[in-house]
Amino acid sequence: MSAKSSHVVMVVEDEEAFIDALVVGLRREGFGVEVARDGAEALTNFDRVNPDIVLLDVMLPKVSGTDVCREIRKKSQVPIIMVSAKGTEIDTVVGLEVGADDYIVKPYRIRELIARVRAALRRSSVAESGAPANGVSSINVGDVTIDPEQHVVTVRGQVTKLPLKEFELLYVLVANAGRVMTRDTLIDRVWGSDYYGDTKTLDVHIKRLRSKVEVDPARPTAILTIRGLGYKFERSP
Ligand code: CA
Repeated sequence: MSAKSSHVVMVVEDEEAFIDALVVGLRREGFGVEVARDGAEALTNFDRVNPDIVLLDVMLPKVSGTDVCREIRKKSQVPIIMVSAKGTEIDTVVGLEVGADDYIVKPYRIRELIARVRAALRRSSVAESGAPANGVSSINVGDVTIDPEQHVVTVRGQVTKLPLKEFELLYVLVANAGRVMTRDTLIDRVWGSDYYGDTKTLDVHIKRLRSKVEVDPARPTAILTIRGLGYKFERSP
């Protein structure tokens, strides 16, 4: 991550009651907080603030949260958590489609929100360069264990050799197990945001990973296809 001593959260929110609670709650946890009160202000201030994470209300004056998310994604992979007054499946899908990392529904508990913020920051530091960060201990989900320092993947007890990009893709999926990763996010994190190659590359890598990870690659239970969105590593297949 950056050399900043504390992470800066950009809070994009138009309801004063939520702003007050967030500013107090986040500062108490050691975060820096910058508030934007509408979508236009968020976009104007984004570069100057250079936040480590964005907390983005969906219903905003001037420019909607989804449009703000879309605009930010054109230039930045900063973690974005969308916040909505009423959670609906549609909102969640739209949020993920425009590139949000996570989604939380109002009213939320500040503890829950801070836990999500920390989780999103952790994931982004792991996936920042596409490569696992040094010092991250091994992670295990279902049949798969990954040791990022040793660059070793173990599937059902068998050490499995993976080429670099397959390793990185599997790492991003497993590190985010249980959540849908959009195609764009996966391509950005593994191949880089300047990748303009064939997006079929992703599917080919997924197929290769399945042949190594799945008990039955024709009927995947670990690496799931989420139609129209991307892929998800199942937490408990
Ligand atoms: Ca609002």
